[in-house]
Amino acid sequence: AAGQRKLPLTVLIAAPRGFCAGVDRAIEIVERALERYGAPVYVRHEIVHNRFVVDGLRAKGAIFVEELDEVPADAPVVFSAHGVPKSVPAEAERREMIYLDATCPLVSKVHRQAERQIEKGQHILFIGHDGHPEVIGTMGQVPEGHITLVETVEDVARLPFTQDDELSFLTQTTLSVDDTAEIVAALMARYPQIVAPKAEDICYATSNRQAAVKAMAGSCDLLLVIGAPNSSNSLRLVEVAERMGTDARLIQRASEIDPAWLDGLGTVGVTAGASAPEVLVREVIDRLAEWRAIDEQTVVTTEEKMVFKLPRQLTE
Ligand code: SF4
Repeated sequence: AAGQRKLPLTVLIAAPRGFCAGVDRAIEIVERALERYGAPVYVRHEIVHNRFVVDGLRAKGAIFVEELDEVPADAPVVFSAHGVPKSVPAEAERREMIYLDATCPLVSKVHRQAERQIEKGQHILFIGHDGHPEVIGTMGQVPEGHITLVETVEDVARLPFTQDDELSFLTQTTLSVDDTAEIVAALMARYPQIVAPKAEDICYATSNRQAAVKAMAGSCDLLLVIGAPNSSNSLRLVEVAERMGTDARLIQRASEIDPAWLDGLGTVGVTAGASAPEVLVREVIDRLAEWRAIDEQTVVTTEEKMVFKLPRQLTE
């Protein structure tokens, strides 16, 4: 009611949070493609998993489809940040289409490693979540039958391979750092001969956002994670908090917050997945400020300076 004093609320804001270099680049590729070729520009799959971003690009003339055969041969098409199976650019070549690959360079790095492991005659055990577009893309880099998906520690026990098989492993870029370490440990215990990737496949943005949540979840009564339900890295942020015993909720927009969630709480944490724009973070904080007298504090665990180059087609 008017004049009623608002109760205090400490709002801890994680840093880093939100957009990563791969998401920035993917969105810029669509925007530049629209400038260069004019609308419509087709995008195969949500360019990044965020409805706000997708709606914004759609308003500028992007058309989102799930498969390449939905794109007319004379229209430019962008492949999403998650990466695509090899068959997709091959089909685009065959149809002589103009295509731009917005696959994150860190996902492409995993793709190239997969190829090399196959050349060495290794069977790949790929740690990831079934059905995620990045998993479909990475598994589609190698001929069928040469890569096996592993989702859990239990899956490791069920694998048909022996200690005589040449094996290697790779992972999705947006996994839980802790869960993955457990699965890798199980793989190494069962297959001591397994070859590990040269460097960790979980990307810097994923691990930094999880570390930021770990640093502040213990001080929060509730963590709000801004992200989409199909955003792998956002879901992992919820899990990291829950694992520490802190309630966490995934929200897409501030309008989803029920003021009753705040009843009796003194500190709320806010973070955002790698595909969630900063405006949505601001929107959430402003919303909290409507109900409570907020004391906003940023909890910085690391600074990020990563920037990825655009494809040459767009810079020449
Ligand atoms: Fe690239 Fe990581 Fe961002 Fe995915 S989350 S787009 S792998 S930087």
